[in-house]
Amino acid sequence: MLIIFDLDGTLYDRAGQVPDNYTEQDLQQLKPFPGVKEFLQSFSGTKILVTKETDPGLQDKKINALGIRPYFHSIYICHTDEEKKKSFQEIQQQFPGEELVVVGDRIDLEVKFGKELGLKTVWMRQGKHRDRRPQEYWEVPDYEISEFSELAEVLPSPP
Ligand SMILES: [Mg+2]
Repeated sequence: MLIIFDLDGTLYDRAGQVPDNYTEQDLQQLKPFPGVKEFLQSFSGTKILVTKETDPGLQDKKINALGIRPYFHSIYICHTDEEKKKSFQEIQQQFPGEELVVVGDRIDLEVKFGKELGLKTVWMRQGKHRDRRPQEYWEVPDYEISEFSELAEVLPSPP
């Protein structure tokens, strides 16, 4: 099994920890959600991070501050939502036959794109997008969790 992770709001509390007028010091203090490092460490499948950048270099700084870089097989830093979907597609092509799961806090982005591509989707229902209701079929996740530590329980078990 291969898991594609979103970063902001999925692996750490974006809204709670990075104010809009963030400083370098805010970034240095970033902490992943409880259970994130433990999961990344113990999950033996391939892990890939796909994240969209707003400010140049910002995602790299966050990834370093969170101390999660070594856990990922690869990291895609995108600049548009379309690029994010294309990255999912590229990963799909790189790992044919692999069961792909995408974990994200946006049903209108990671869940929608994942589902459109036929991936299993997990909605990390946290932070400012937690109250959004699915607007269409493609936004309905396969699984929903409200804490990262629930992820292992909902992952599809291998056939
Ligand atoms: Mg996010």
